[in-house]
Amino acid sequence: MATSQLESPLAHLTDEQLEELAREFDAIHDEVYGDLGDRDRKYITSMIELHRRMLVLARVLLVGARYKPLWAAGTATLGAAKILENMEIGHNVLHGQWDWMNDPQIHSSTWDWDTASTAEAWKHSHNYVHHTFTNIRGKDKDLGYEIMRIDPHQKWHPVYLAQPFYNLVLMAFFEWGVAFHDLDLEAVRSGEKDKKQVARELKGIWTKARNQIVKDYVAFPALSLPLFGRRGFKATLTANFTANVIRNLWSHAIIFCGHFPDQTYTFSQAEVEAESRGGWYVRQLVGAANIEGSPLFHVASGNLGYQVEHHLFPDMPSTRYAEIAPRVKEICERYGLPYNTGPFLKQWGMVQRTILRLAFPGGRPRPKPGPYRGGDGEVKAAREERFTRRPEPAPAGTSAAGPEQPSDGVRVAPPPRA
Ligand SMILES: [Zn+2]
Repeated sequence: MATSQLESPLAHLTDEQLEELAREFDAIHDEVYGDLGDRDRKYITSMIELHRRMLVLARVLLVGARYKPLWAAGTATLGAAKILENMEIGHNVLHGQWDWMNDPQIHSSTWDWDTASTAEAWKHSHNYVHHTFTNIRGKDKDLGYEIMRIDPHQKWHPVYLAQPFYNLVLMAFFEWGVAFHDLDLEAVRSGEKDKKQVARELKGIWTKARNQIVKDYVAFPALSLPLFGRRGFKATLTANFTANVIRNLWSHAIIFCGHFPDQTYTFSQAEVEAESRGGWYVRQLVGAANIEGSPLFHVASGNLGYQVEHHLFPDMPSTRYAEIAPRVKEICERYGLPYNTGPFLKQWGMVQRTILRLAFPGGRPRPKPGPYRGGDGEVKAAREERFTRRPEPAPAGTSAAGPEQPSDGVRVAPPPRA
């Protein structure tokens, strides 16, 4: 694979090609939405059920956290439950991936999750800001999360010398970092956000934080008091703390691997001025990077091992990302575009190297992969299928948000279809 390409892959596509490419990606979206049904419904309800069972098991085990084997088993189960709840359930439900089911409980407008961020602030900062302006410098606030220099185009400042250290703190307490990041202090400083809104959001964070702290550090440890006294209380508290740290380390790793490995491109605001829908798709495609792994890995990562597919279609049920991946690769091959992917440790290692290197002044963009050259069986099959497929007509209103749900500022907003 050629690894010297530095110019944005957007540069070699004509307007007509971009238009055609947008049509092809839209067709994948519509086809999947036309096919959603029982299989998908069963998947998400079984994940929610599995999470509940794991959670009950963990909480029961941790009543006896005073005993080391119960502490270890309970902590591991609680950590895994929290990972499942945040990654495969919370992030995806809040995107509106399951809104098409019209289930009042499993819906982006009613869901709340087991993390410090309020659903309301998250939907704006993640679904709308990050997913719409992905990797545009100065507009995508997730690019370095406003505290890290993750791209050589970002101006260096002596504070970045400390980023390898505060990154370690961020890893362990990621949920709190994200909650405060959602506040968007820059918008507060520049006056973009009015004081009333800031006050409302702060109140939201405070309420959410208090509930989280009471739940994990007072209420559940208190269950151990009657049987095991103060030592029982303390043991359950440290178990809950450890489970939260496990979940934070994992979500930090997966999320940082989504956009910060060497393979991804960032964009200046001028570069994406008057961006077409096709251009938006290409930016998502080359601004994200996948992680290769087993089916279990993909569930545990909330299918963000398919970060590329997630960024092309953030509102598509995560069950479908693996299925459409060969078709995305096939499109990359035909249009001469890269398909960013790699094993977990390789992607993670590149991210850590960037954080270390860019703590110091200078630095250049790392070499990029060349156009995707598939040749593997699944891409060939996708290519053959392309010529025989007779897709169902696109269903009307494919965003499936339901007429009663407001979507402005809480959903991704790509340029409209031509
Ligand atoms: Zn997302």
